[in-house]
Amino acid sequence: MDGKIVILTGAGISAESGLGTFRDKDGIWTKHSIEDVATPEAFARDPARVQAFYNARRAQAAEATPNAAHVALAELQAARPDTVIVTQNVDGLHEAAGAKVIHMHGELSRALCAACRHRWDAPLEMRVGETCLLCGAPEARPDIVWFGEMPYHMEEILDHLLDADLFVAIGTSGLVYPAAGFVEEARIAGIDTVEINLEATEASALFDRTVTGPASEAVPAWVKGMLGR
Ligand code: NAD
Ligand code: ZN
Repeated sequence: MDGKIVILTGAGISAESGLGTFRDKDGIWTKHSIEDVATPEAFARDPARVQAFYNARRAQAAEATPNAAHVALAELQAARPDTVIVTQNVDGLHEAAGAKVIHMHGELSRALCAACRHRWDAPLEMRVGETCLLCGAPEARPDIVWFGEMPYHMEEILDHLLDADLFVAIGTSGLVYPAAGFVEEARIAGIDTVEINLEATEASALFDRTVTGPASEAVPAWVKGMLGR
């Protein structure tokens, strides 16, 4: 198949690198409530708790290494440079494997000034009241898109999607909008759609095909097919 490929990845692609997913049985949201750690209101109410939550996740992500699925996608992109990888993940495992990705939900490795939106590389451990390097406001926060906030790069992503010949969703539950809407957009535009996931999801019926299996096996096998090897 020729043409442009747009790939959306979710927490499932990093699961075998040891980073927990959100909504699975043992997922992160079974141990922490969204309202306590992942909203602007939570940060306003209890910044220490929010920073501690993300400090722990940043430390965990810093220890993790890419798995065969991240590596295969980087190989696909190297062989077909018009492949666009969009991720909901806030870890840096796609980059660590050598891929260029669009982070729609921000990155653990970056800090954001809540006052002026300036961004910089986050220290491994962020502290409450850390000041912005640009405006001096004591409002440094993780550069993570929280619930109730607008994902990044949406216009660019939709442009890529409408220009694509194939849309592939990997390791995402299909429950979090607006990413969940990408497959619907793709269908309306007549674009071929493939889902790769450990198991069928609530969104499976929306895809032309679903491939089930762990990402570390299913993704390299799919990439091999795409590259005709
Ligand atoms: P989710 O937790 O809602 O869904 C994970 C999906 O991955 C499920 O459908 C599950 O069946 C599948 N999965 C689990 N293990 C798999 C494996 N080994 N191989 C293939 N698929 C597997 O995650 P989501 O859809 O990405 O939800 C979006 C939210 O989760 C985003 O806000 C994102 O920022 C956040 N998140 C990111 C990370 C990370 O950066 N690593 C980790 C957890 C959550
Ligand atoms: Zn600032």
